[in-house]
Amino acid sequence: MSNTENLKIAIAGGGTAGWMAAALFARFLGATAEITLVESDAIGTVGVGEATIPQIHNLIIGLGLDQAEFMRATNASFKLGIEFVDWLREGHSYIHSFGTTGRPVGLIPFRQLWLRGRALGVAEDFGAYSVNIAAARQQRFSLASLKSVPDLAYAYHFDAALLAKLLRSYSEARGVKRIEGKIERFERDGASGDITALTLEGEREIHAELFIDCTGFASLALGQALDVPFVDWSQWLPCDTALAVPTEGGEQLRPYTQSMARPAGWQWRIPLQHRTGNGHVFCSSFMEVEEATQLLLDTLETEPLADPRPIRFRTGHRKEFWSHNCVGLGLAAGFMEPLESTSIHLVQSGIARLLNLLPGDRHNLSQARQTFNRQSTVEWERIRDFLVLHYIANEREGDAFWDHCRAMTPPDTLREKLEMFSNSGQFVREDDELFLDDSWAQVMLGQGIEPRSWSPLADNVPGEDVGPFLAALEKQATTIAAALPTHREFLTGLVGRAPETA
Ligand SMILES: Cc1cc2nc3c(=O)[nH]c(=O)nc-3n(C[C@H](O)[C@H](O)[C@H](O)COP(=O)(O)OP(=O)(O)OC[C@H]3O[C@@H](n4cnc5c(N)ncnc54)[C@H](O)[C@@H]3O)c2cc1C
Repeated sequence: MSNTENLKIAIAGGGTAGWMAAALFARFLGATAEITLVESDAIGTVGVGEATIPQIHNLIIGLGLDQAEFMRATNASFKLGIEFVDWLREGHSYIHSFGTTGRPVGLIPFRQLWLRGRALGVAEDFGAYSVNIAAARQQRFSLASLKSVPDLAYAYHFDAALLAKLLRSYSEARGVKRIEGKIERFERDGASGDITALTLEGEREIHAELFIDCTGFASLALGQALDVPFVDWSQWLPCDTALAVPTEGGEQLRPYTQSMARPAGWQWRIPLQHRTGNGHVFCSSFMEVEEATQLLLDTLETEPLADPRPIRFRTGHRKEFWSHNCVGLGLAAGFMEPLESTSIHLVQSGIARLLNLLPGDRHNLSQARQTFNRQSTVEWERIRDFLVLHYIANEREGDAFWDHCRAMTPPDTLREKLEMFSNSGQFVREDDELFLDDSWAQVMLGQGIEPRSWSPLADNVPGEDVGPFLAALEKQATTIAAALPTHREFLTGLVGRAPETA
């Protein structure tokens, strides 16, 4: 390869991952790359993936899309966080919200003041100091600047098929060539082992220098042609099946995702403008598909629009995300269940990492490849730890699945976090990991982990000031939230038409 010529990129697969890669490459590599995407309508896409995290803004801004148009095109709604219902024990719920909770005082994290306030008996639940949570509980939302506090941090719920459609027209308008066809195999160079071409049914060959494997769970290039082993995480994330079913839109238009714990897993509820996405993720060693299907159907809020369909998966990732001249993205690279809506983000961050590391001298990819693999592995492992936390810290005694989860030995990196937090509510954020202290704290506390003490930093504030400080922040959160329009009103104003209801 040489950067005096255009870089030929072949993207295998046209799901969310394939079209995100095509759009971002077209946008950022421009005329220096020739991009071809191959997909097969006969095979189709996984067809799920509706909830996101705030990093999704980088995609929209990066592509130069207008927010309202994007939301209109994908039937999107706003998301302020995720409500976890019954995860700690039945009857208990908490929200993991985006954005910050409370306000630090100088170097003293808010969490530490709150811990001290709790010991003094003057603190409410941690979530009471979050504007995001107050707005979510009241089903309110706005993009308008909020006086004296940071704006609401938000992401979207959207229709994954409509997103792929939008990205496809964006990409094709910028020169990406789409080929419809079934990939039969990948050809490899006998000496280097690099992929030289992909061969379609009918023996048509597509040659390229860089291959992007977005073929979903099949992982045709990375997993099959290059035989990159799979790192299995099912000892920590034992769920292996999902049932997905759309339902009619409901009366409520919650600006947040719901995740309800179930006897052998959990169920999601994702409100879009035109319908609600639902799914049941469970561990097949603890529940049969028939029972899981019935449980899902029995707990839908509105009428189903299709039959639930099972999707089998294994949690983990390919040992190398980039092998030879092939980078895996999306399900082809690995999978973590959608508990914290991180998969689309991982596609996005994989593309950004690749664009940042792609060297000018394309004959020498080895350092870029090594760095890409190291950073990706750390990113995936830290997210895994965050997901495992939801399972391992539970009080659902007597439910075989949850007893099993409570007995799991955590990964060492999670064990360190659990110990530091249990001691005095502290965290050390390593290696640019995705979730910030606020997220960890909300889920640790939500899952019943109570720090024994607090950082001595918090003792710098006189004890009699802690209560009034906390009370003022709580009042501020509820007052600001109460003044916002409802989610439905705001969305209708933004996208210019009334979201449909049942
Ligand atoms: C149950 C479930 C729920 C999820 N929920 C969320 C969520 O809420 N938020 C989130 O961020 N992520 C979520 N995800 C993950 C998200 O759906 C995926 O990360 C995302 O859709 C990317 O999928 P993909 O493009 O890698 O694969 P796919 O959508 O499976 O696309 C694969 C593509 O490869 C093509 N292909 C395959 N084989 C061939 C062949 N032989 N020849 C030609 N083409 C071929 C297919 O036609 C298709 O175009 C969820 C995943 C699951 C399983």
